[in-house]
Amino acid sequence: MSGRTRTRACPERTCVGCRERAAKADLLRVVLIEGACAPDPRGTLPGRGAYVHPTPVCLDQAVRRRAFTRALRAPGALDTKALRRYVEQATVADQATR
Ligand SMILES: [Zn+2]
Repeated sequence: MSGRTRTRACPERTCVGCRERAAKADLLRVVLIEGACAPDPRGTLPGRGAYVHPTPVCLDQAVRRRAFTRALRAPGALDTKALRRYVEQATVADQATR
């Protein structure tokens, strides 16, 4: 089990929208559930996950480039409606707290 020595380092993931690396905590985990992209804000759902900034801009980029389809190894187009609704609500909530 080499390569597992950086357990205390801040885990980083790449946003599938803008392709920038960010702290895992700043990204929204997305999992595949029955052909749809589902938000997994607590990172507890099983299976392969993709990471995206929880913003409409990054979500749009990811959808346009079919990044979720690739990242989640999905056989075809994915339904992102639930994910979009989640991101839009998260964005509103974020703005409300400023
Ligand atoms: Zn991004």
